[in-house]
Amino acid sequence: MEELLKQIQDHKTEIESFTATDEKAAEEFRIKWLGTKGLVKTIMGEMKNVPNEKKKEFGQILNEFKQFAEAKYEELRSSTSNLKPQTSNLDLTLPGDSIPVGTRHPISLMTNRIISIFQRLGFAVAEGPEIEDDWHNFTALNLPQHHPARDMQDTFYVQQNPDWLLRTHTSNIQIREMQKGKLPIRIICPGRVYRNETVSARSHCFFHQVEGLYIDENVSFADLKQTLYFFAKEMYGSDVKIRFRPSYFPFTEPSAEMDISCMLCKGAGCNVCKKTGWLEILGSGMVHPNVLSNCGIDPNKYTGFAFGMGIERPALLKYGINDIRLFSENDIRFLKQFTSAV
Ligand SMILES: [Zn+2]
Repeated sequence: MEELLKQIQDHKTEIESFTATDEKAAEEFRIKWLGTKGLVKTIMGEMKNVPNEKKKEFGQILNEFKQFAEAKYEELRSSTSNLKPQTSNLDLTLPGDSIPVGTRHPISLMTNRIISIFQRLGFAVAEGPEIEDDWHNFTALNLPQHHPARDMQDTFYVQQNPDWLLRTHTSNIQIREMQKGKLPIRIICPGRVYRNETVSARSHCFFHQVEGLYIDENVSFADLKQTLYFFAKEMYGSDVKIRFRPSYFPFTEPSAEMDISCMLCKGAGCNVCKKTGWLEILGSGMVHPNVLSNCGIDPNKYTGFAFGMGIERPALLKYGINDIRLFSENDIRFLKQFTSAV
């Protein structure tokens, strides 16, 4: 018995002092001590020679010895596998996962294009709320109380008395900018607007606009014409022709609609331009003195021009789209066709 105890003690000392620098050495340790013909098994085999009254005591000693050897093996295995760099499956030379690039909405593409042209002329982008009060959307813009645009048939009211509504144009941004009192003003106002219209292939209850406003001393109709002519050439090509037709808007005086020569038939007349050779693209005019006064600007000192255009119609023309509802249906097959990143 004494001999067996000493043997176990010697084995423990040997196990304790064993070191391994690689997995091979750890494996050799396992075979020597814990393998089917290993020393732990051999020592356990000595149990049959232990007298019955000592079997319980020795059983514990042998079990503890076995656990001691197993713990050492676990320690060797984890420390040697950590040392080994090839154990990782990470291959740094593999190409990375590609990140799918999205596409921009055609309305955003068109809006950005318009903005970038006016930015080159010194116009800054201004934004405003889509839910607006009556004053900023109608009254300040010189729209009389009986004007049909105020009718429930044409405008979505969120609440009445006091009136809150979904803005019918982005002109409310111009009013808010003028009220700030910082002159001169040279802004471009893109945004979504709402009108109570029947949804069809040609019209929708919401659409997008870009409006512009320039107010300073001595701004004339010639400035308006030259600015919009520059825009038309940049937007539709240097050979585009423009024409102004007298018009009426409550917030401008004089007012004009601007047409460009039809880019599809080059002015010869086609279905898109209804055989006229011209396409209507925007409304414009000199800011009405009443509007300036409403916003605290002296109309005897300052003048300015304003213009506004829809985004949907030029986008329909540019991309050859025949149904305005496609813009808001979120059909990914439609949207994926617009690959520009601008
Ligand atoms: Zn045409």
